[in-house]
Amino acid sequence: MLSVYNINVWYGAIHAIKGISFSVGEGEIVALIGANGAGKSTTLRTLSGLMRSMTGSIEFLGADIMHAPPETIVRRGLVQVPEGRRVFLEMTVEENLEMGAFTRPRSSIASGLERVFFHFPRLKERRHQMAGTLSGGEQQMVAMGRALMADPRLLALDEPSMGLAPIFIQQIFDIIGELNRAGTTVLLVEQNARMALSIATRGYVIETGRVTVSGTGSELMNNDDVRRAYLGG
Ligand code: ATP
Repeated sequence: MLSVYNINVWYGAIHAIKGISFSVGEGEIVALIGANGAGKSTTLRTLSGLMRSMTGSIEFLGADIMHAPPETIVRRGLVQVPEGRRVFLEMTVEENLEMGAFTRPRSSIASGLERVFFHFPRLKERRHQMAGTLSGGEQQMVAMGRALMADPRLLALDEPSMGLAPIFIQQIFDIIGELNRAGTTVLLVEQNARMALSIATRGYVIETGRVTVSGTGSELMNNDDVRRAYLGG
């Protein structure tokens, strides 16, 4: 479904991504794990057309998207939930969700909201509440719901567990699994390697802009280097 080959990305003089390649197959949950600053967010931003690679190729559903504008990439079905959620704090839950449907016909909004409320009943209860008054976990749900409104084929999540209490982390990961079983392919960027690998079909470890290890979720969980560096021994 997604095939990324040898991308190189710079921020001015900083070479943040140094020849990363990876793939995501239809139906998979693929995790990108790694420390702070390893280049995970930059990789996602490059897939979404927010940063540009100087080399290589990015193919999504058979089309070259490396030079496509972000809006086209969303329309094709690659939709990102950004790090830090970025919800509109002074808009209601429902208004936030509707913003996610900007590439979709207005007639699809009602069925989109229904789908989001099916996966996130909490958001239905709070649909008229300002997003800024929600807890961190609920704001993460709004950000994920907003992405669902764009009808993604591939949902790319940047650090969904960041700053959340353990009970919310579990809930968010349960919902990621549920969305995947309902047919959405998932690319998951996480510093919480244990949670990410527990639901991932496959994963890649990123260190200072390079992929250093890859394998199935369980292979990575049992890899001594990965255990020492990312799973606490
Ligand atoms: P985090 O989880 O902290 O976001 P990450 O693995 O997602 O970490 P990136 O945010 O992709 O890492 O950062 C990769 C490298 O690029 C780091 O060295 C970072 O300092 C650098 N970088 C990121 N954003 C910028 C920017 N806007 N300007 C300059 N350098 C940047």
